[in-house]
Amino acid sequence: MKYLYWMRQDLRLHDNEVFKWANERGGEILIVYPLPSSLPNWGLQRRGFLKQSLEELQKTLKSFNLSLHVTQHSIHELLPTLHKTHQFTHLLYSTEHAFNELRDEKTLKTLANNLAIETVSFDQSSLIKEADLPILIEKLPKIFSEFKKIIDSNLKVSVPIHEQNLKLSSLHLPQEKIDWGPLAFHPWFQGGEESGISRIHQYIWETQSILHYDDTRNGMINKDDSSKFSPWLALGAISAREIFHQVKEFEKNHGENKSTYWLIYELLWRDYFKFYAKKHGSKIFHLQGINQKNQKFFEQNKNEFNKWTLGETGEPFIDSNMKELLLTGWMSNRGRQNVSNYLAKTLKLDWTWGADWFEKNLIDYDPCQNWGNWNYTAGVGADPRDRLFNPKSQANAYDPEGLYQKLWLNKGELNGKNI
Ligand SMILES: Cc1cc2nc3c(=O)[nH]c(=O)nc-3n(C[C@H](O)[C@H](O)[C@H](O)COP(=O)(O)OP(=O)(O)OC[C@H]3O[C@@H](n4cnc5c(N)ncnc54)[C@H](O)[C@@H]3O)c2cc1C
Repeated sequence: MKYLYWMRQDLRLHDNEVFKWANERGGEILIVYPLPSSLPNWGLQRRGFLKQSLEELQKTLKSFNLSLHVTQHSIHELLPTLHKTHQFTHLLYSTEHAFNELRDEKTLKTLANNLAIETVSFDQSSLIKEADLPILIEKLPKIFSEFKKIIDSNLKVSVPIHEQNLKLSSLHLPQEKIDWGPLAFHPWFQGGEESGISRIHQYIWETQSILHYDDTRNGMINKDDSSKFSPWLALGAISAREIFHQVKEFEKNHGENKSTYWLIYELLWRDYFKFYAKKHGSKIFHLQGINQKNQKFFEQNKNEFNKWTLGETGEPFIDSNMKELLLTGWMSNRGRQNVSNYLAKTLKLDWTWGADWFEKNLIDYDPCQNWGNWNYTAGVGADPRDRLFNPKSQANAYDPEGLYQKLWLNKGELNGKNI
């Protein structure tokens, strides 16, 4: 057997069904990670986090005498060329949910088919596998709480795979020189599986911050205000199933409480947006979202938009959050809710520009979570509550002493410089 493993948002060894499947059958494997073509436009921290994640995975795989080939070529270019030399029997990958990712899978599958290569895909980026959903994705309810109700009585989560003693032999390619461009690194987020797993351990077991999640999750300053799992989840360096099972273990020892409940609840939102993206396809990226009937007006004013990106709108709560994003690649959920709502509903600017700005800069960018959440906050999604946030009262509620605003408003001389 000769496998070509197309790595994507599954940059991990533990709880990875692809490795398990190939290892059980034995043979040779070529593991490739094609870099996203949008990489040069990313913010420095997003690029830095991906680079660290890939390097750590390369190190781990090396301990099993396997190599990960990071390439600037697309998988569609690579497959026919590499096949000439290696004559693969199987193409392996983890399936995703967003429109472009699914389109890539479809075209690649056809290509593999024409080359008589068997395609095997693995559904392992969400907590619940599509096959374990009690409903078809086309029947996904419009409202999250209805989805949650359906799931609650039928929740099926696979047990994560742990020990993987890989006995496959590696196919190698000459290393490509990658030009990463300028990079920056967020002190909280070290890319890679090991750091992701140690964050789970820290948050749940060491500091037991999970016990206070319900009280602190809207916090904007401290690392342990919320789990901070999202950057590793976005690249698949940790799996939602691993988190779920660790929380369940924790509950066995410490009992279930509001906080453990809410953390799982948020992971279900993550699944909901994955299935939402799959159901609605390219619509979630369109200005009118999935509600094509209710035409909403969004102005395209570049000048006003640039002020928003640089944290120069004059609204301190919004500006402090936007500066944090610009300087670090991170923003809390409370911040994201506010700045997106402000762009779309107060400034009434093209929300897709905002989502695109988030896409470039967020360390934890995930197409389904980002565009799905933006659909909601811009009022073009399925949410019946079309809420408008008042940044002053939000600041009073979530930053009453103004500490967060003080922290970021005075940081860094940006001088109109874009990342
Ligand atoms: C406009 C906007 C854009 C967003 N873009 C992204 C994105 O690109 N990538 C991303 O991972 N999240 C995104 N989110 C969701 C959310 O803000 C982050 O997942 C969360 O802030 C990550 O911090 P945490 O890991 O500490 O979350 P916690 O509060 O500790 O939650 C645990 C996990 O639950 C999931 N989760 C929490 N809140 C949400 C939510 N609102 N929607 C979906 N899943 C959630 C995440 O996987 C998170 O890691 C966005 C939210 C908004 C409003």
